[in-house]
Amino acid sequence: MNALAATNRNFRHASRLLGLDSKIEKSLLIPFREIKVECTIPKDDGSLVSYIGFRVQHDNARGPMKGGIRYHPEVDPDEVNALAQLMTWKTAVVDIPYGGAKGGIGCNPKDLSKSELERLTRVFTQKIHDLIGIHTDVPAPDMGTNAQTMAWILDEYSKFHGHSPAIVTGKPIDLGGSLGREAATGRGVVYATEALLAEHGKSIKDLTFAIQGFGNVGSWVARLIHEKGGKVVAVSDITGAVQNPSGIDIKELLKHKERTGSLKDFNGGDAMDARELLVHECDVLIPCALGGVLNRENAADVKAKYIIEAANHPTDPEADEILCKKGVTILPDIYANAGGVTVSYFEWVQNIQGFMWDEEKVNRELKRGKPGCTFHRLKGLGSINCFFSVFCFFHFSFIFNLIPIHS
Ligand code: GLU
Repeated sequence: MNALAATNRNFRHASRLLGLDSKIEKSLLIPFREIKVECTIPKDDGSLVSYIGFRVQHDNARGPMKGGIRYHPEVDPDEVNALAQLMTWKTAVVDIPYGGAKGGIGCNPKDLSKSELERLTRVFTQKIHDLIGIHTDVPAPDMGTNAQTMAWILDEYSKFHGHSPAIVTGKPIDLGGSLGREAATGRGVVYATEALLAEHGKSIKDLTFAIQGFGNVGSWVARLIHEKGGKVVAVSDITGAVQNPSGIDIKELLKHKERTGSLKDFNGGDAMDARELLVHECDVLIPCALGGVLNRENAADVKAKYIIEAANHPTDPEADEILCKKGVTILPDIYANAGGVTVSYFEWVQNIQGFMWDEEKVNRELKRGKPGCTFHRLKGLGSINCFFSVFCFFHFSFIFNLIPIHS
């Protein structure tokens, strides 16, 4: 199912459960602003190439709009729209004073040289600089972008508006980035997993894990689970997949990936078909890559008892229903992966205050802070099996606050 159709369907379902006024429902489904820009750059060989860049600003009722910028061939207006909407719900669930936005460029960053990526990022920034701002819309990294991309945006934006470190988060430490930001999404996923398991009288060290994706989020999740004594029995990414029923040595796998750029030929496990990862034998499945990977084709074959949505919208609504019927507990993306935007908020606060926190404080605040609290408030609602319970929660703190603005 198309990402926007799936996200809207989930929202409509939640809205019906909440008895939301149809005008408010409609208003929350329509984004505040959709930006589409053409970005033409010279390639290294002198030829010209054009890309389309998007920024969707979904809602600003709770604060400046916040969300990543994705460079990926599958970026299209519907996908960016869905992801922007999810950012509004995510920042509300963890109760940080932001709205939601998302951006992207439909390109394959692996096909571009570093200088081509720099030119593309700078042209994109030139086209949107008037529509983003420290108190308006604050971009961050997402799939295919990183601290370097944020540095280029910051530099280009500052040419128009003066030095503005708080215009992006997830930037390099030397330019005002926060210690702990790079690991934050993965760390938050692990804190959220621990909170869920504790609720069920279980702990990471007693369970087996299968992790889809070994980029920034997946590799941090795998590393932290391994450090906490969890047994990671399967890992996959676009380069391949590896499995070992006795547990993969994640430190060695990280070294192997660093050395070869791939998961292939790792001698600490057996190669497997990456498509099998989602249905691999394990207690906890953690999709950390693209959206929509769990769908009606594979949901019935999932063996895990728990799914932790580290990716954005990895479970489409049809899979959600099948998995709920099977009794699988799903920890929704807008709660599970909110550690990244939470530490982005800490970074923005540090920039505005001109004061840097040490890493221990960042991690302590992340653990002590909003995601942990949110989980305990969610508990009172009974089942956390579906996305909708989360909506039920933020209804109380969020939707009512929106009514005067949106009606
Ligand atoms: N791209 C991340 C997400 O999807 C982080 C966004 C941010 O830090 O603004 O949550």
